Amino acid sequence: MPNDQDECCKVVFSATKSKCPACGAVGKSVSSFTVSLFLRDPRLYLHEESLPPGSYYMCETRSCPTVYFTDRGVQFSKTDIRVKVWQKEDDPKVPACYCFDNSVVTIQNEIIQTGGTDVISRIGAEVRAGNCRCEVTNPQGSCCLGNVTKAVKIAKENLSQPAPVVSSKKTNVSLSESTL
Ligand SMILES: [Zn+2]
Repeated sequence: MPNDQDECCKVVFSATKSKCPACGAVGKSVSSFTVSLFLRDPRLYLHEESLPPGSYYMCETRSCPTVYFTDRGVQFSKTDIRVKVWQKEDDPKVPACYCFDNSVVTIQNEIIQTGGTDVISRIGAEVRAGNCRCEVTNPQGSCCLGNVTKAVKIAKENLSQPAPVVSSKKTNVSLSESTL
């Protein structure tokens, strides 16, 4: 039997098992170690060995309350998590980058103060310097740059929206009439 194509023992990634039980979206793989760092339950917090067994995934659907789930149907929701999760919140103060606390608000402030933002290249430099600890600071357990790119886009969109103009149409002072 040809064994050069080890099809019989190839690990087949099952999309159905990585689908969020709550919303059906395909989740992002996350380590049980990371999960254990973000759970409120004191029996599970920092106790990776006590987590329900299975492969862990994170649901990134903003409107879905489930944050972590396993291929065996276990779910942890937003209320089970110690921090606000960027993917799940509309609050612009929630960090997109947890290592250096960059959020839509901090990026907007940077753009207002300096005319632009180099947050992506700053984080890139930190990554290259080995200072990123996304595995332990970010509930998704992986690099935040995708989120930060989205946060920059949101910040720019927010700032490009026209500021509410208080229209005062009472400027037509009828000088000509009064001086007549
Ligand atoms: Zn979901």
